[in-house]
Amino acid sequence: MKKRAGKFCPRCGAPAHATDAYCMHCGYSFSVKKSKKISLKSIIILIIILVIGGIILQVFFNQSIIPKELIDIFKNMTSATSNVSTGTAG
Ligand SMILES: [Zn+2]
Repeated sequence: MKKRAGKFCPRCGAPAHATDAYCMHCGYSFSVKKSKKISLKSIIILIIILVIGGIILQVFFNQSIIPKELIDIFKNMTSATSNVSTGTAG
């Protein structure tokens, strides 16, 4: 009993062995290239590059990426919490 473990060439339809990398008939490559799929790894690498790039920008230009307005808001928030027991000054 011969097991017919094989596949057919999608291009010409010729039978081919499962282990064949190329079609014997037309030379079609069976190693199908998968369509562009963004992998999690590439996303992580992209984020790392962005973070490192941001740090480099900060170091080189000695400037914060965070807008000054946001920093002022944050400072107001922190000072408001710390000035609770101080009361009104002067
Ligand atoms: Zn073929």
